[in-house]
Amino acid sequence: MHNSTLQVHNSLTRKKEVFKPINEGYIGMYVCGPTVYNDVHLGNVRTFVSFDVIYRYLLYLGYKIRYVRNITDVGHLLDDGEDRILKGARLEKLEPMEVVQKYTNGFHAMMEIFNTKKPSIEPRATGHIIEQIEMVQKILDNGFAYEKNGSVYFDTLKFAKAKDCYGDLSGRIIDDLLSESRDNLKNQDEKNHPSDFAIWMKASPEHIMKWPSPWSEGFPGWHLECSAMSTKYLGSTFDIHGGGNDLKFPHHENEIAQNVGACNCQPANYWLHTNMLLMNGRKMSKSDGNTITPTELFTGESPHITKGYTPMVVKFFMLQSHYSSTNDLTNDGLLAAEKAYKRVMEANRTLQQLTTNASSNDLDEEINNIIESAFVDMNDDFNVPKALSRLFELVPKINSMKDGHIDVNHLSKDCLSNLQKTFSDFLFEIFGLQDDQDQNDGQGTALAGLMDLIIDIRKSARENKDWGTADKIRDKLSELNIQVKDGKDGTEWSLN
Ligand code: AMP
Ligand code: ZN
Repeated sequence: MHNSTLQVHNSLTRKKEVFKPINEGYIGMYVCGPTVYNDVHLGNVRTFVSFDVIYRYLLYLGYKIRYVRNITDVGHLLDDGEDRILKGARLEKLEPMEVVQKYTNGFHAMMEIFNTKKPSIEPRATGHIIEQIEMVQKILDNGFAYEKNGSVYFDTLKFAKAKDCYGDLSGRIIDDLLSESRDNLKNQDEKNHPSDFAIWMKASPEHIMKWPSPWSEGFPGWHLECSAMSTKYLGSTFDIHGGGNDLKFPHHENEIAQNVGACNCQPANYWLHTNMLLMNGRKMSKSDGNTITPTELFTGESPHITKGYTPMVVKFFMLQSHYSSTNDLTNDGLLAAEKAYKRVMEANRTLQQLTTNASSNDLDEEINNIIESAFVDMNDDFNVPKALSRLFELVPKINSMKDGHIDVNHLSKDCLSNLQKTFSDFLFEIFGLQDDQDQNDGQGTALAGLMDLIIDIRKSARENKDWGTADKIRDKLSELNIQVKDGKDGTEWSLN
């Protein structure tokens, strides 16, 4: 079908490299998931949609993939040292696990709205305390950590001298780290070096989320969960590790240090990082009001936009920039995305209706070349915007075949069916879009079916002289602004 080789930009080497999985035909992929202490924001959505397209494309290429995306539900501290989950629990007067459940549910619902595929495993940090304690022990045994007053710290200086890889991912050198480490400010004095970071933290007596360990009743450091859970489910070295580029330091740098410190091997062969979502050219940030929630974007209730946009239009908008570039959300950009999205969906509907009697095949080569180019683009570090532009090269051709400006009979049957299949595969299988028109039709069909059922129940009630039920149905429907009219030809209904 397509012959180019997949290349990915590896953040660890800062180079585009040919992708070669450890075991041919299989891929292990780990992506850092959300910290579930508040509503998922659009920046998170951008990162998870990007990795969803990567996952979908690798599946499309025929790989068997174990895709692990964790849920962080302990240990991710704020700058003031408070655990994010505990802060959520305190503010909302909920149990910490209620906070975790609430925002995990919200995250899943949002991922569904954006039509992303579920990961193969979604492990939680609190469900893997034993594995994390075991990893701390290994790092201690290998001499890359030390214990102080019940907490255990990773010894970055000793590690950097012994392994010569600390800083490879983020490009930072240990001296620069002296002034930068913000980890565990409260216990700064306990560390031998400011860039050391806690892998186990002793909990204060009032701290709720804590577990027994050889060192203290405490909890794991945030970076540790990803090291422990990726090792457990994907092995000590696996293929792809992903996340937003804001996680490169300290999270991913320290993850690598922990894995090398525990197992003496690099956790992942390829590190992929998504870039940030901006709004009107600035980082989306709650503190200066430069933010919009997904719901506000769908309803249009925000000063930043002039109208609401469907989730698929928002997703289409996100797909128009490469995952490693920033993505700047603007009202004009969304309006343009809406137009383009409708155009490509319309073209797909038209395309699926075309038939050919294949009187010649002189258009085949041109069409096949464009399709091939779309795969070449995807193989070039998942260049979705470029692959999308190939579909848009096809759109005017499809439209001309419909109005007869291009004679569709100049396409062979094979070429037309390949075009029909690949065009819709790109939209739905690879990019994970849905046609909003189908969605509306689907809802319309469901509503019509439901109304047939209700009218039927009301008819039986009337036949049985059960006027109470019949009236209740009519009144309730009227409350919902649905009018029913009984006529000679049966009962009709309409939405007011
Ligand atoms: P968090 O819940 O903050 O741990 O973030 C979950 C994922 O979303 C991580 O991979 C982050 O890098 C990513 N992320 C956070 N903010 C943004 C943003 N503004 N744009 C893109 N990705 C983001
Ligand atoms: Zn992580």
